[in-house]
Amino acid sequence: MAEKQQKQRIVIVGGGFGGIKTALELAKYTDKFDITLISERSDFWYFPTLYHTATGGTRHESSITIKHLLHGKDVKFVEGTAESVDRAAKNLILKGKDKPAVPYDKLVLALGSVTNYFNIPGLPEFSYGVKSIGEAEELKRHLHQQIIDDGKPDLNYVIVGGGPTGIELAGNLGRYMQETLKRHGIDGRPVHVDLVEGAKHLMPRMPKSVGRAIERQLRSLGVKLYLGKAVQGETADELTVDGKPIRSHTVIWTAGQANNPFFTANSFTLSPRKKALVDEFLRSYDDRSIFIIGDNAETQYSGMAQTAVYDAEFVAANFVHELTGDPKLAYKPKKPVYVTPAGHRWAAVEWGNFHFYGLLGWWLREAADFVAFDGLEGPVGAAEQLTQSLGRQDLCSVCGSVS
Ligand SMILES: Cc1cc2nc3c(=O)[nH]c(=O)nc-3n(C[C@H](O)[C@H](O)[C@H](O)COP(=O)(O)OP(=O)(O)OC[C@H]3O[C@@H](n4cnc5c(N)ncnc54)[C@H](O)[C@@H]3O)c2cc1C
Repeated sequence: MAEKQQKQRIVIVGGGFGGIKTALELAKYTDKFDITLISERSDFWYFPTLYHTATGGTRHESSITIKHLLHGKDVKFVEGTAESVDRAAKNLILKGKDKPAVPYDKLVLALGSVTNYFNIPGLPEFSYGVKSIGEAEELKRHLHQQIIDDGKPDLNYVIVGGGPTGIELAGNLGRYMQETLKRHGIDGRPVHVDLVEGAKHLMPRMPKSVGRAIERQLRSLGVKLYLGKAVQGETADELTVDGKPIRSHTVIWTAGQANNPFFTANSFTLSPRKKALVDEFLRSYDDRSIFIIGDNAETQYSGMAQTAVYDAEFVAANFVHELTGDPKLAYKPKKPVYVTPAGHRWAAVEWGNFHFYGLLGWWLREAADFVAFDGLEGPVGAAEQLTQSLGRQDLCSVCGSVS
């Protein structure tokens, strides 16, 4: 009698876009795989809406429990922090003496990126961020508390970073603060929003025409742009930009991302931008049983949620092909569709060689959020998330609860 084939032990680290999508794809083949997902926290964060959480939304529109996403799937979830890999023994070591080593046949790493302040003095202590639910909520508290304490807005709200996050925030913040002031009975006070970018144009990695269109849109909303200007330091009262001070108690840093320190700590071979080098199957240069996806991998479009999801589908498909004897596919980078909202019902879209702007782009972004959730939790959950995200257009819905 043929011996029953042992299931392959797949250990996935990271409960973000790449990790969750890998688990969901492989969960279709639980006769073949024994799947464990490990993440340092029990919820998944939907980064694209974090700026809404900071400016009027709730934490629920940007986070959902991993348990919920994996409901009904044969995937073991472990809350824990990966510390190191014993490559010879094929064991993942978690932080904490009481945590047993996790053996694997294949390891998928999708740990995401971390904030980088480029050693600029004062930023870690004084700036705000929107890279986590905690940061977004801290910023929201600060925005409200200042108005309650001082009875007026900050002299300047300064956002650093002319990429998608900085632009989305800059497009939303002025309107949100005006609504908040009104809610507190303070009318007629001007709100100054500044956006600082080191490159000569916004969205420096995009075609110039996209950056220029967004610049026009933000200027029309009253946002002051500092282009080609470098941040040199921050104190409790001001930000120094190109040697000149901007008075502010609200500096929001969106300008820097770095790869997860796990890869340097575990001596992975890295590219000049410190992402892990991978081969055509997204395997680490250092070990053929370790797969690296999403923000961590040195691929052409790494740094986008769409890429992390695409990578997850790619590695999962190859795991299946390997077992069924189908030929394995080589990785082909897929250009994401870039949709960047800048203000109410306006977004810039770069879709292949097409660029378009305005309401249509904004609707596309709403649809993209729907598709993203659809991929992770099916159409019903996606519809719920979409309803929430449309609901957040009522910017005042939370002002009352905070004041
Ligand atoms: C504010 C913001 C807005 C964005 N907007 C967009 C957008 O509009 N469109 C777009 O395509 N992309 C956007 N991105 C980028 C996108 O979010 C990332 O590219 C995507 O999250 C990468 O997916 P990932 O799976 O590689 O990592 P993540 O989604 O970051 O997931 C990493 C997971 O690993 C866990 N983890 C980290 N270290 C450990 C450890 N040692 N042990 C265990 N678990 C660990 C983390 O807790 C997290 O759950 C945005 C990013 C930010 C910060």
